[in-house]
Amino acid sequence: MTEKVTHHPNDIDRATGDNVTDDLVAANRVYAQDFRDPGMDARPVRRVAIVACMDARLDLHAALGLDLGDCHTIRNAGGVVTDDIIRSLTISQRALGTRSVVLIHHTGCGLLNLTEDFRHELEMEVGQRPSWAVECFKDLDQDVRQSMVRVRTSPFLLHTDDVRGFVFDVTTGLLREVDPPAVP
Ligand SMILES: [Zn+2]
Repeated sequence: MTEKVTHHPNDIDRATGDNVTDDLVAANRVYAQDFRDPGMDARPVRRVAIVACMDARLDLHAALGLDLGDCHTIRNAGGVVTDDIIRSLTISQRALGTRSVVLIHHTGCGLLNLTEDFRHELEMEVGQRPSWAVECFKDLDQDVRQSMVRVRTSPFLLHTDDVRGFVFDVTTGLLREVDPPAVP
């Protein structure tokens, strides 16, 4: 009697590799063995775009009950709504049919410990001032509201009526909704 072997990317012994990227490529080989073409097109099934911090402790699909193909996930340091996030949201809505926007910041975010001095120190070190703002913040809720305002007031987006913001607690796994800004 043969036992069915289920392959899983985590079967790879992650401690043995010398190079993390090599380990990732090896894990992908295992992943692809059981992968079947899901037959989906590029339009997210649940018509939602999620803007979140890149934090390694935030597993968006698991935390929100999302499946492959359900949503766009757009991530950067802080989950800050920068011009490039607006670029992705604009494409998400206008070319790929999403209608709702969910913004997720989280407790213990690295940006809470930074100041705009980071930018100045970079300039002193490398001799070039970055063109981007660090977008650090001290108040999570206020920054979520600021992000909501940036989405809602963007002239490029088609859908700004369903924009909600949350803080994810990395110790409990729970989302807490942030009250929307009074204006707009
Ligand atoms: Zn973060």
